[in-house]
Amino acid sequence: MNPPDFNAMVDAYLKKEKKQKETGRYYPSEIGSCLRKVWYSYKFPIETEPEQMKVFEMGNIIHEFIAKVFKSDKNPHIELLKEEFPFRHEVDDFTISGRIDDLILLKADGSQLLVEVKSTKSIAYVSEASPPHVAQLQLYMHILNVHDGVVLYVDKGTLQTKWFPASYDAKKAEQVIARFKALHRCLTEDVLPIAEARKSEKTRWMCRFCEYSDRCYAATPKSEEFP
Ligand code: SF4
Repeated sequence: MNPPDFNAMVDAYLKKEKKQKETGRYYPSEIGSCLRKVWYSYKFPIETEPEQMKVFEMGNIIHEFIAKVFKSDKNPHIELLKEEFPFRHEVDDFTISGRIDDLILLKADGSQLLVEVKSTKSIAYVSEASPPHVAQLQLYMHILNVHDGVVLYVDKGTLQTKWFPASYDAKKAEQVIARFKALHRCLTEDVLPIAEARKSEKTRWMCRFCEYSDRCYAATPKSEEFP
């Protein structure tokens, strides 16, 4: 008996056809990323690598686990009100859509809390919520009119968690919406955004994982402003 190739089976299960994204329809999970990279992903879609698909799937598995924790009778002080729920938000002539992870009720005081779940390789290195994750949460709080939220990090290996509360900040939510507007303008006018992530030391790490770095450096060669 020859056992099947189980790795190949996982890859086949996770394989998705490359999808052309539609200008005018945007996703909160992307907006904290480098705007130029998001712009490229609309203009020059590329298939997601199998390894990346596995990372996404692990995120889904972790999220399903956390939803079970929230739903469990063993945590009677919490009620899971909504899980993985879709939303659409119209801005000017475009749409922001996606799925919001969890909305829970804290029975002690009847308050509602939005929970944005993120899986991480090592919780030990998480000391604060990453700005793109906070941006996502601020946008969701704005859309749902829920004014308290947390970014909840879950270690993929140990299931240990760390969480970072955030209160709704209208200014921050507006800044996120302004980024969508900038992306929409650049796409509809066919203008390449600046090499945003290369401009700041804090975001330059994004370029190491960017599938479009060759294009980006060809369009904007290295300089003092854009190393
Ligand atoms: S290489 Fe860096 S600056 Fe250029 S598109 Fe990618 S993430 Fe953005």
